[in-house]
Amino acid sequence: MELLEKRIREDGTFLGNDILKVDNFLNHMIDVELIDEMGKEWARLFKGEKINKILTIEASGIGIACIAARHFGNVPVLFAKKSKSSNIGSDFYTAKAYSFTHGNVNDIVVSKKYLGKDDSVLIIDDFLANGEALLALTSICNAAGARVAGVGIAIEKHYQGGGDKIRAMGIRVESLAKIKSMSDGDVEFM
Ligand code: 5GP
Repeated sequence: MELLEKRIREDGTFLGNDILKVDNFLNHMIDVELIDEMGKEWARLFKGEKINKILTIEASGIGIACIAARHFGNVPVLFAKKSKSSNIGSDFYTAKAYSFTHGNVNDIVVSKKYLGKDDSVLIIDDFLANGEALLALTSICNAAGARVAGVGIAIEKHYQGGGDKIRAMGIRVESLAKIKSMSDGDVEFM
């Protein structure tokens, strides 16, 4: 998506260790208009797919998923929590997700109340690197018997291999910006 690639070129900062900082428009301060355009694009790409719920992971995915949901008929947004807060109850699906940016493992949880066999889910996230977050989210969908209708990603760092791993599982992944390579001062898109 031209608009997102342009914004990454203009405002993204390469932090080293394969990390791209986009906290001035995506995951700290949010450019709502840009996310709205991204939501529109995912809706165009997934037109015709039955989607009754959007699933994401806290924290950065939430804002993006909520704005995107407006383009999918205001379907509910469900986010996996990274810790078992007392209000989630005792009945939940859980999976382990290694965090690429924090270098630790999170036990992510989703209440069984909100995900089940009648759901056809679009998973949305800000970044796709090694695919750990997506593997955890898809395993939660599998445990719930929910169908994964597809995955919408803002920025895929393609060279890290996570996207191909998920696609090889037969899951459709639509990334709006696909990075081929990245170094200080230079981002190359596919
Ligand atoms: P994966 O699980 O695919 O290895 O990494 C995806 C998750 O790690 C995303 O949810 C995102 O929060 C975080 N992440 C991965 N790479 C980057 C990056 O380059 N920049 C930022 N800001 N977050 C990243």
